[in-house]
Amino acid sequence: MKPTLKGIAASDGIAIAKVYTLTEPDLRFEKRAVNDTSLEVSRLDDAIAASAKEIELIRQTALTNLGEEEAKVFDAHLMVANDPELIGQVKETIESQKVNAESALKDVTDMFINLFASMEDNPYMQERAADIRDVAERVLANLLGVKVPSPATIDQEVIIVAKDLTPSDTAQLNRKYVKAFVTDIGGRTSHSAIMARSLEIPAIVGTKDVTSLAKDGDIIIIDGLSGDVFINPSQEVIGEYEAKAQAFAAQQAEWNKLKDAETFSKDGKQVELAANIGTPKDLESVINNGAEGIGLYRTEFLYMDSHEFPTEEDQFEAYKAVLEGMDGKAVVVRTMDIGGDKELPYLPLPHEMNPFLGYRAIRISLSEPEMFRTQLRALLRASVYGKLRIMFPMIATLNDFRGAKALLEEEKAKLIAEEIPVSDDIEVGIMIEIPAAAVLAHQFAKEVDFFSIGTNDLIQYTMAADRMNERVSYLYQPYNPSILTLIKHVIDSAHKEGKWAGMCGEMAGDQMAVPLLLGLGLDEFSMSASSVLKTRSLISKLDSKEMEKLADKAINECTTVEEVMALVTQVTENL
Ligand code: PEP
Ligand code: MG
Repeated sequence: MKPTLKGIAASDGIAIAKVYTLTEPDLRFEKRAVNDTSLEVSRLDDAIAASAKEIELIRQTALTNLGEEEAKVFDAHLMVANDPELIGQVKETIESQKVNAESALKDVTDMFINLFASMEDNPYMQERAADIRDVAERVLANLLGVKVPSPATIDQEVIIVAKDLTPSDTAQLNRKYVKAFVTDIGGRTSHSAIMARSLEIPAIVGTKDVTSLAKDGDIIIIDGLSGDVFINPSQEVIGEYEAKAQAFAAQQAEWNKLKDAETFSKDGKQVELAANIGTPKDLESVINNGAEGIGLYRTEFLYMDSHEFPTEEDQFEAYKAVLEGMDGKAVVVRTMDIGGDKELPYLPLPHEMNPFLGYRAIRISLSEPEMFRTQLRALLRASVYGKLRIMFPMIATLNDFRGAKALLEEEKAKLIAEEIPVSDDIEVGIMIEIPAAAVLAHQFAKEVDFFSIGTNDLIQYTMAADRMNERVSYLYQPYNPSILTLIKHVIDSAHKEGKWAGMCGEMAGDQMAVPLLLGLGLDEFSMSASSVLKTRSLISKLDSKEMEKLADKAINECTTVEEVMALVTQVTENL
């Protein structure tokens, strides 16, 4: 049977379950003049009561499934739903203007939202605006009789179907019940895909129209290995996929035998396989998958999971937990990379035409030095609990690096003057994800301690192809000779100065890329924890000298990505 549709395989594994659609509710309505205002007032009361009940249920579930911090937002929502001032004004509008409840609700809540949202230097009031918006939508949905999806309340096995999932949607998913997800938009390196890999659930992105084909309660099969999606398949297809899921589990059990091993090529060349994490909660999977270190801790999730800037103390605790949890193994912590598709509700950023090319990451850190200094202090204080490496994201120029490093040195000197212990063995490196930095790697290598190549961005910037846009996802070409040439220059430049070069973009765990990267001399491969074991298995079957020749041929003789893929496949197909 042919699949119902095909998308981009974003996270390995197979899942079969019922559909749970996470789509924006249709809240359109007509403004109506009414005679019976008391009927409208009682419709409003009913909708508010129903909404309060729903919010209370979500709060309870969030508390059990996700924790206190995540549940707090719903306390604020309950306060809005019970706010006599707000509700009184809606009722008054119904009575005085003789309009339907939907219209009165919208007018009054919009007025409060605009008022609070315009208080730009008052993040507390801006958050209240967000709370009112959420509650108003829920009450409106109840008035109109449409469903508002609440992922936190899911309490049976489902597969989420959505247009896209924001990083904060993904953070709310409970792995116990959410077996997989499939989206209309996105590519392999959009953050929803990355989160799926760290949650270790299968995912398919960029199907273009799964939301218009799948309905709540349909049975759906997600094949995260091939990108195939089946909606309401026959029993025969279900049986076939149950068998595939079993075979995948058996393969994983085989890889699992390498959990405690180090990583060597067939001819004995050692490399380091590290994992990427977003929160200290990911440590379990890092350890279960036998990673030799953490090559990328994306600290922005700490900021995104919070309702205000995390304090120095909160950050210190998180960094310390990760360093201690890794028990002396290296941990590369990246300073926050907000912007692009990662937003903070309490740091309103101007709407940009090209957010990935805009005000993002180190650019924000350097122009908000107080915020940046707080993070640096927390990191420096945590440094004595393990082997810390600090990494700056989105470095375009040497001045970016020098500016960030100078702030780090200043904070370090202050802490030492305050007699607070700081490790004297912290490596400071940069992400190579902007082509300008890759091209000038030979100069950067003289000043930094290490490089970590961020191919998710490096590829989008080099190919001029937005990583979120499935229409240009064919241009996300990790094995394009142009990308391989840049990577080679970065690795060679590091080695010339006695430094190491790693990679923390998704390419590092891509099985087609691994032979090439081994051949190019990459020292550290950092990837989703779920890819570590299969990569260790693959590397153990490869000869590093042969891979050097392979990489050389790919760069010097191949003209297209298809030729490179054919070359690699020739070498790997009989392993
Ligand atoms: C990258 O760009 O490759 C990277 C690892 O950073 P992020 O995916 O968080 O932008
Ligand atoms: Mg990046």
